[in-house]
Amino acid sequence: MKPRKPESSMQNDNHISVKNLEFSFPLQEPVLKGVNLDVSPGEKVGIIGPNGSGKTTLFLLLAGMLAPDSGYLSVLDSPVKTGSFNSDLGFVFQNPDDQLFCPTVRDDLGFGLLNLGYSKEETDSMIDAYLTRMGMSDLAGRPPHNLSGGEKRMISIAGVIIMNPTVVLLDEPESSLDSRARRQLIEFLRNSSETLLIASHDLEFLLETCDRTALLDSGKICADGSSRKIMGDEPLMNSHGFEKPHSLVPHVEPHHRI
Ligand code: ADP
Repeated sequence: MKPRKPESSMQNDNHISVKNLEFSFPLQEPVLKGVNLDVSPGEKVGIIGPNGSGKTTLFLLLAGMLAPDSGYLSVLDSPVKTGSFNSDLGFVFQNPDDQLFCPTVRDDLGFGLLNLGYSKEETDSMIDAYLTRMGMSDLAGRPPHNLSGGEKRMISIAGVIIMNPTVVLLDEPESSLDSRARRQLIEFLRNSSETLLIASHDLEFLLETCDRTALLDSGKICADGSSRKIMGDEPLMNSHGFEKPHSLVPHVEPHHRI
């Protein structure tokens, strides 16, 4: 079984801490120019920003897959070490094909669990319970490369969450989901106890899943606070290329007369 941090240390410290983070790809303009972000245990934080603003780059840095030029990054009080795997951190990639590589969905979901030392029986029963909970039991024997885009997405999310991480980074998790799967994912994330950082362009999705949103643009966090307050600020949204979400626009009359 994977050891968990003692509750006392999880309650007082930030689960994610980013201080003065700077990063550039070789021979490119800097992507991140002094990002600061602290996330408390159990918080669900949306990250919004225009295309190319550095959301994925920030996640890759937090996962230790890129090395910062300068600044400080920690996850669960441990400084992020580039190139080392942290089993308490889950990362749902933007492209599910980057994550799914086994012959069947069951093999894919079991891969990490077996590596963590769970027995075949324990692994199978965790997979069955998880697939039943998500209404996806019929996918267990299917090859992942034959699944629809939405099914792949749900299985790639399942493959991360089933590992029981404490902190999860989700990069555009709602993309290519149909309404039912999107709703299932929203309910799942709302009820999850993990600390979540969710990058998305779908502001309505974030309004339903994250109480807090940070806006990343021009290499910095330009605004950070209540999702409704940030997204309800029309001048702020417009100045960073977003529209105020429809659900936050006051309606003088209902959409449909009864
Ligand atoms: P976002 O997720 O907000 O759309 P990204 O983090 O993917 O933004 O990209 C930030 C910037 O870094 C973009 O200008 C993008 O073109 C650039 N970039 C991303 N990956 C690479 C790479 N491997 N090499 C060079 N530039 C990259």
